[in-house]
Amino acid sequence: MRKYVIIGVPGSGKSTQATILAADLDLVHISVGDIFRSQVQNHTKIGAQVRRTMAAGELVGDDLAEKVTAERLAEHDWNYGFVIDGFPRNARQAEFFLESYDIDGVINLDMPDSEVRRRVLARRLCANCGVDYNLIQSRPAIEGVCDVCGGNLVTREDDTEEALVVRLRDYHEKTDPVLDLFRRKEYVAVIDATASKEEIQEAIRDRFGLPPYKP
Ligand code: AMP
Repeated sequence: MRKYVIIGVPGSGKSTQATILAADLDLVHISVGDIFRSQVQNHTKIGAQVRRTMAAGELVGDDLAEKVTAERLAEHDWNYGFVIDGFPRNARQAEFFLESYDIDGVINLDMPDSEVRRRVLARRLCANCGVDYNLIQSRPAIEGVCDVCGGNLVTREDDTEEALVVRLRDYHEKTDPVLDLFRRKEYVAVIDATASKEEIQEAIRDRFGLPPYKP
């Protein structure tokens, strides 16, 4: 059983790296942001509650974030473990999380804020299957069309200059302390997230003694 948390500023590649790691090692990739986005897309009650908060780049309330995460983890479909992305995001969530789960490691994707803006504003998401593209590094073969499913590529509502300022501020104010907390209790691997997708994945495997990555 392997349980990892992946933490990093917006646009540092958390979802990309978690997806590769999970697919290869039979782990479940749990993205709290994806759960909220799908609630918004499906016009659920939770979706209505979080839509504006998310679009502004603000964090959803702890009670709701904890409830959604606990319910997802309670599905217990993660026979070989999980990689959780987007949780915990502040000290309270970290304490809540550590009460229930032992973590094998924390992957901290390290990227300077100066690089974030460039990457986040170039990010596109498939509206149908959720695959991430980047107009700088991983362009789709046909502009605006998903290589995987042919869906439309859209910009995340919170990938704007205004929302990004809020997200970065929250990250440094609230999520940086989570790393300090994990550093005391767990193994935090700081990985240079400015390297290529493959190099980052290799570095993660190397740091945790996992089977090598064969792209
Ligand atoms: P992400 O895809 O991880 O960037 O998350 C997108 C948005 O979902 C965030 O900006 C928050 O509004 C919300 N969100 C995701 N995870 C959490 C969390 N753990 N606590 C509060 N809000 C969250």
